Amino acid sequence: MFIETRGNNGIKAKSVEFSYAIMNPSASFGGLYVPEKLPKIDFDFLQLATKKSFKQITLDVLELFNIDIDKSVLEEAVSLYDNFDNKENPVPLRQIKNDLFVNELYHGPTRAFKDMALQPFGHILSNVAQKQNQDYLILAATSGDTGPATLDTFANKKNIKVACLYPNGGTSDVQRLQMVTQEGKNLKIIGIEGNFDDAQNALKTLLASQTFKEKLEKSNIKLSAANSVNFGRIIFQIIYHIFAYVSLLKQNCLSLGESFYQIVPSGNFGNALGAYYAKKMGLPIEKILIASNINNILTDLITKGEYDLRERELLLTTSPAMDILISSNVERVLFDKYGASRCKEMMEELKENKHYKLSSDELKALQEDFSAVYCDDDFAKQIIKEFASEDYIMDPHTATCLKAYNELKEKNIPCVLCSTAEWTKFAPTMLNAIKSDDIKYSDKEALEGINNSLHVKTPECISSLFEKKVLHDKVVVKADIEKEILEFIK
Ligand SMILES: *Cc1c(COP(=O)(O)O)cnc(C)c1O
Repeated sequence: MFIETRGNNGIKAKSVEFSYAIMNPSASFGGLYVPEKLPKIDFDFLQLATKKSFKQITLDVLELFNIDIDKSVLEEAVSLYDNFDNKENPVPLRQIKNDLFVNELYHGPTRAFKDMALQPFGHILSNVAQKQNQDYLILAATSGDTGPATLDTFANKKNIKVACLYPNGGTSDVQRLQMVTQEGKNLKIIGIEGNFDDAQNALKTLLASQTFKEKLEKSNIKLSAANSVNFGRIIFQIIYHIFAYVSLLKQNCLSLGESFYQIVPSGNFGNALGAYYAKKMGLPIEKILIASNINNILTDLITKGEYDLRERELLLTTSPAMDILISSNVERVLFDKYGASRCKEMMEELKENKHYKLSSDELKALQEDFSAVYCDDDFAKQIIKEFASEDYIMDPHTATCLKAYNELKEKNIPCVLCSTAEWTKFAPTMLNAIKSDDIKYSDKEALEGINNSLHVKTPECISSLFEKKVLHDKVVVKADIEKEILEFIK
């Protein structure tokens, strides 16, 4: 069962099933749903897992959660991992230094780790909607990778419509093209004048708006969201952290029970939260190392115990998926560590005063599981160049993790870093890094430049984007988003 991070308002149910939590992700007082209790994985589970496929381990972990979704639906959902590059191993773990491993989470259809959760989640959500014989509007706000992955998974799915908001000018060409060329009559893609926080805020406002819901109900449509505030995504983001450990065991890089560091390039904190839950379930993670860019709000929280939005502005960087100041999933950690009433208090302080502060005991508790550091674009570019010269291509988000690897490790144990996107989504930055120039390449030029200088091929799903027809060209101001969506619903 699932309970609420800000406590119960006496109107909503005190605890709900998984299917309810994924269809209605917003809980009392604007809180989020979290599992009442996490299942445990023990050494036997991990040992047995070394003989199993990623898909089977995923099903095993889902079974431990005992959610109210039929096994056959879960099996169909998980079979979508067969569409990844390597059916046998959709999430390869690559060793790039003695003690450094890259968990490549981007081998799905839209070339970012968002596919890991959204592929199976889309199938489950559509299935629940069909069972209820109810149409749903799914809202998504994207900094660039959630959008394509959400649209891909829901295109032409029954009982589902999707409205996806992206910050106009805030994504790469490739990311934008992935969205605006996506086919599917049930999809609406809207550019907004503003940054990702604006898009996410617009989404949160609509989700909380009673009048918007009433207008949708007139067309017999219910509202839901596909952002990582939805626990239906988080559950799948626990599993690949467990699988990374299993891969380390299989590759004889540690023995059962030995711990490892998990490095996560973080924005909305969904990926890191998955690692935190995996640790709580019993996975021997020594610590979760949080990597950020210069929007270093998470570094401040974890090192100083302060979440302070006063006098802060979102800065645009070469790792745009991490250009976030309001990191939604932090709330689930606050709840887990300090309880619902303290969590509610902090979230309200953040809303009213743009600031909250942990006590020194609270900070200590947070630091038992997390360390954090940030880097700037120059550092990330230098890392990209360095590794490219050793024949490993990493994207600008993944590159931020090297700072954590260099500075935060205290023990000499294996380090797994999450690689969250393929380089093809951020080609101009990649070419700037490799050539040490600051020429403004188009994505297309840059992809070709990298093909030539590093002798790699762009996958067809990316190169073909430039030939496709643009199907969605709307860009609106914030005030017009609701109107735009309601017109689409009609
Ligand atoms: C979404 C994303 C992130 C941030 O992940 P969170 O779960 O939001 O912290 C990092 N890198 C890339 C490439 C992403 O798409």
